[in-house]
Amino acid sequence: MGIKFESLSHFYSGVKKEDSVVAIKDINLYIEEKNEFIALCGQTGSGKSTLVQHMNALLLPTSGIIKIFDNVITSKKKKNPPLKPIRKRVGFVFQFPEYQLFEETVLKDIMFAPKIFGNKDLEAKNKSVEAAKLLGIEEILEKSPFNLSGGQMRKVAIAGILAYDPDILVLDEPTRGLDPKGAKEIMELFYKIHKDFGKTIILISHDMNIVYKYASRIIVMQNGQKAYDGDKVELFKNDNYKSLALTKPEVLNSIDRINSKLNYQIDYNHFDIDDLLSSLRKVNNHE
Ligand code: ADP
Repeated sequence: MGIKFESLSHFYSGVKKEDSVVAIKDINLYIEEKNEFIALCGQTGSGKSTLVQHMNALLLPTSGIIKIFDNVITSKKKKNPPLKPIRKRVGFVFQFPEYQLFEETVLKDIMFAPKIFGNKDLEAKNKSVEAAKLLGIEEILEKSPFNLSGGQMRKVAIAGILAYDPDILVLDEPTRGLDPKGAKEIMELFYKIHKDFGKTIILISHDMNIVYKYASRIIVMQNGQKAYDGDKVELFKNDNYKSLALTKPEVLNSIDRINSKLNYQIDYNHFDIDDLLSSLRKVNNHE
């Protein structure tokens, strides 16, 4: 049992009743506990961050329910199960997570969350060192997190989430502010975590190249409602993506041009330019 939204709506209340904002409305959604890589897309204000904040009960529904690993969460605060164990299982990497670093050393910073979630010092340390190795930052554990490059700081912040080993990872624009090389490095890392450990990942991103390369399922929000939920290749097979205010990934524009200019029939199951080039080489070698 993963995460299930049942007719979930969330309104932000204003000072006056008429000022309240309907952020998401009547959402039904199921996310598997393992092995999913979902991109959550949609324009600013479409409800993405309100939606994901329900996934570890940072926000409670205004109406409807959400089931998180069999825990039923409703609008009624007092009747809900303890939220800490749920929060341990759904980890969030917020935008610019490095802004939340605060400890004297990198190691202490990474250990902070595992300790909050009940690990004893030694256990928290072992998990933190493991997470640091995964991110390739084990050499800087005794440094101050404030004397690092932006990319390294971000890795420290991400290690702090991985160290408590959540089942599901929610990533809010994790590549924002990084150069292309740094962005690729971080995305490859999350993809590896997804593949090697079967973790479900929910990625909020406006970058359709990243979305098309790494996700398999795409959910598109529009005006607080789910406007698309399905396969990434299907989404771009016709023009419907335009009405969802999405841009076409570059690799698909290239495929369209090659197919029309050279009369090829390359399909959309190529997820980045390298992927496309290797198919083209094969076609050429056979000619
Ligand atoms: P997105 O993540 O897609 O940008 P949000 O979930 O942040 O969308 O916002 C959905 C709607 O809820 C928007 O109209 C936004 O202005 C409103 N909203 C978001 N957070 C708050 C808040 N704390 N108080 C009032 N309105 C909010």
